[in-house]
Amino acid sequence: MSRAVYASDPAHTRGRRHPEQPAPTRSEFQRDRDRIVHSTAFRRLVYKTQVFLNHEGDLFRTRLTHSLEVAQIGRSIARPLGLDEDLVEAIALAHDLGHTPFGHAGQDALNECMVGHGGFEHNLQSLRVVDALEERYPAHDGLNLTFEAREGILKHCSRRNALRLEQLEPGGVGRRFIDGTQPSLEAQLCNLADAIAYNAHDIDDGVRSGLISIEQLQELALFERHHRQALAQHPDLPRRARRLLYEVIRRMLSEQVYDVIDATRALIEQHRPHSADAVRRAPTLVRFSSGMHAQASELKQFLFAKLYRHPQVMQTTGQAQQMVRELFQAYLADSAAMPADFAARQDRERAVADYIAGMTDRFAAREHERLTGARLL
Ligand code: MG
Repeated sequence: MSRAVYASDPAHTRGRRHPEQPAPTRSEFQRDRDRIVHSTAFRRLVYKTQVFLNHEGDLFRTRLTHSLEVAQIGRSIARPLGLDEDLVEAIALAHDLGHTPFGHAGQDALNECMVGHGGFEHNLQSLRVVDALEERYPAHDGLNLTFEAREGILKHCSRRNALRLEQLEPGGVGRRFIDGTQPSLEAQLCNLADAIAYNAHDIDDGVRSGLISIEQLQELALFERHHRQALAQHPDLPRRARRLLYEVIRRMLSEQVYDVIDATRALIEQHRPHSADAVRRAPTLVRFSSGMHAQASELKQFLFAKLYRHPQVMQTTGQAQQMVRELFQAYLADSAAMPADFAARQDRERAVADYIAGMTDRFAAREHERLTGARLL
């Protein structure tokens, strides 16, 4: 399908904060995607935790492989809907750039350290990475991405931070959190593709780690249905457990992708947005059907309770949080322990948070050992 009227159009972007000449052959959203792929923060994703700490096994997802899977699922849905695939890919590849080392444990600890200094939100940090922290251009900080890519990267934002953003950039990417309007369909799609991706890959990683079992998963409607159908079609699969699991996950992924395409088409038909801006004034249009929404929620809740809150995961969580807290205290007490450009900054707490947030798991662990002498994890 060619570009739909409601898709974001790189020829009519709201533009970049620092105006640039168009590229001879690439669209504005292709350039955004390319800048993200070449960024330092993107390369660091390979050594950042998704759920399992990086050193726990080579086959578990990292932030990098998670982001690639989000991009794959996003593109699969974008094309039949006539959305801009390059913008979807750009947002998907950048959506987790602001994550701290050690996953959500690291982010929670850093947020606690920053109480009284503006807090720490990983979505806002992803925006900070592409707007301010990447150093690639002679004349400006950051990657100078288009409004549409930045809008999608800032997936959530507290009202307080939205008001602060609005002061710095009136009518900019913070505005929708004040007005209660929607982002582009490409951004809406990345939110859902993110959830589809982690629900699927966390089943795989969870079973691989031995923390959740096929028997437990069979209590979930979405898993059970595809498990039953896969076995009916391939009676020899019980003897090949890994192939059986992949077949079930593949079928679950496909059903969710087609469900989103159908449900979104129906909502677009109902609301008939005639432009990308009309999308922003409409309700959320990229959605699951209500039946699939319930099944995906059940799966998400299961993973939360049985995997993310598993005692074995929680044990590493405590140590990861301790590491982040102690790193924060060490750099605050002695800013010279950080590289010169961070040490020189006047906003000391924020400089420490930016430095820690950028670290990979293994770099953070090495720094922690260097500064405290203690070896955790
Ligand atoms: Mg994600």
